[in-house]
Amino acid sequence: MRSQYCGALNASFIDQEVTLCGWVDRRRDHGGVIFIDLRDRDGIVQVVFDPDAKENFALADKVRGEYVLQVTGKVRARDAATVNANMATGEVEVYGTGLEILNEAETTPFPLSEHSSVGEDVRLKFRYLDLRRAEMQKSLQFRSKVTIAIRNYLDENGFLDIETPILTRATPEGARDYLVPSRTHENKFFALPQSPQLFKQLLMVSGFDRYYQIAKCFRDEDLRADRQPEFTQIDIETSFMDEEGIMSITEGMIKTLFNDMLSVDLGEFPRMDYATAIAKYGSDKPDMRIPLELVDIKDLMTEVEFKVFSGPAKDPKGRVTALKVPGGNEALTRKQIDDYTKFVGIYGAKGLAYIKVNDASDMENGLQSPIVKFLPNDVRKAILDRVEAVNGDLIFFGADKANVVTEALGALRCKLGEDLNLYTCEWAPLWVVDFPMFEENDDGSMQALHHPFTAPSCSPDALKDSPAEALSRAYDMVLNGTELGGGSVRIHDQSMQQAVFEILGISSDEQREKFGFLLDALKYGAPPHGGLAFGLDRLIMLMTGTSSIRDVIAFPKTQSAACVMTDAPGAVDATQLRELHIRLRQKEKQEKAAE
Ligand code: ASP
Repeated sequence: MRSQYCGALNASFIDQEVTLCGWVDRRRDHGGVIFIDLRDRDGIVQVVFDPDAKENFALADKVRGEYVLQVTGKVRARDAATVNANMATGEVEVYGTGLEILNEAETTPFPLSEHSSVGEDVRLKFRYLDLRRAEMQKSLQFRSKVTIAIRNYLDENGFLDIETPILTRATPEGARDYLVPSRTHENKFFALPQSPQLFKQLLMVSGFDRYYQIAKCFRDEDLRADRQPEFTQIDIETSFMDEEGIMSITEGMIKTLFNDMLSVDLGEFPRMDYATAIAKYGSDKPDMRIPLELVDIKDLMTEVEFKVFSGPAKDPKGRVTALKVPGGNEALTRKQIDDYTKFVGIYGAKGLAYIKVNDASDMENGLQSPIVKFLPNDVRKAILDRVEAVNGDLIFFGADKANVVTEALGALRCKLGEDLNLYTCEWAPLWVVDFPMFEENDDGSMQALHHPFTAPSCSPDALKDSPAEALSRAYDMVLNGTELGGGSVRIHDQSMQQAVFEILGISSDEQREKFGFLLDALKYGAPPHGGLAFGLDRLIMLMTGTSSIRDVIAFPKTQSAACVMTDAPGAVDATQLRELHIRLRQKEKQEKAAE
């Protein structure tokens, strides 16, 4: 039906006859001449109808916004005065000689050009209209190109694209499962995969050697701004490769992608161990574009009278840390400091102490701060020396349980970086390595930091002896403070897998019931293997510079994990429930109350 996309037209088409199909972006009547901006996925071009072509002109007069048209016409140069430099096709216009209205459109619920003034809920309710906008068209076209580039890279490196089931058993990745009741198996449920983890490991046992899949994953967790209950992973697994091999091949993939798609050379990715990341940057995904660092001062605070500092300093699980903002004395207003105090409150910090350094040589009068009076001069001096403060600097402090300080000051570091635009470069990739195997819950039980199939870097005996100290063979790829992907070398030995399950408090009966198939598979010649998964949505977000994950997904869920367009999740009728052997508690209560 068409010869060209609207957005493709330029001066090289002048004098050519073209047929276009698209939507009416705008229609203007200029003293007897009708201008229609016709839009398709490639862009917009101006079409002109003049009264000489009577029939077409009459039809063009009827046209309204979002009507679907087929237009035939001749491409011609615009007058110098009307060339539109802001439009890709702005040098030309199409002189319309034929017009067919393929479909009419009612007035849309929001003008597509004024999307930003309507709430996101409206945009999501009429997502099919929102997606017509150039920005969304570009974002999804870019996403398609990225997945093709990824497939090409992995295909060239011998990876096989293999699909794994969506209706499956629980795969623990630390979130709640989405469950699907079974009609044919009364009282039993499938779980949607939190990741294809176990299947990809089984594919290694089967000898496929290099697997990948662009896979949907489902995690029922409390949603944060950049999370979706269903999201897409570039899931990768290999056999006979250690962490060096896996990191090198996947780093190569991301580098190729940035090079080919954005002409960005990411260079070689530096490495940092987890302990350093937490100590210096307060995060396991440090944003290395920001030059600020956390400096621990616990040892300086044990003897001070100020309980806010000495309490955590004496507590083995406490942390006392300083964060220096060079020039912060001038750059930050009182109001900003108050806002930052509220900000760290989100992470559980009870306050945010600070010292403004007016004169670093005068411990008596050179420091300005509500807390400085609680600190003896030698401690003041020791702090300034430790953080290498000079006149004009501002030092923030965190003192609390270690995890609160780490999270609060880690987040403050990023916020300061953003607010004061401290970025030293555009892209800062990083591998974080040497993660602990486990983290301790408040009740003393252990939880896998990655997932329970991650191999420790020690023997099963050493692991059992001191699980809290054990490190894993896991690695995360971080870009600009976002975790792009994470993975590990896996356990391929049955006894090691059992040792990990035991530490996690999974009894042998439960091990058999939940993971019997994996433990069996590990008995029959499982090769050494490992892999990694990247979050595709987040990768696209970073590459396109968008701030919302919903802007890179065609049909995303809202923050409350619902689809406002289809109204999912929705109620189901009684017959369907009966077939699934399900009785709803709320309904039952209501029915009883009515009796
Ligand atoms: N399955 C892991 C995840 O979803 C990634 C991996 O270990 O390959 O985070």
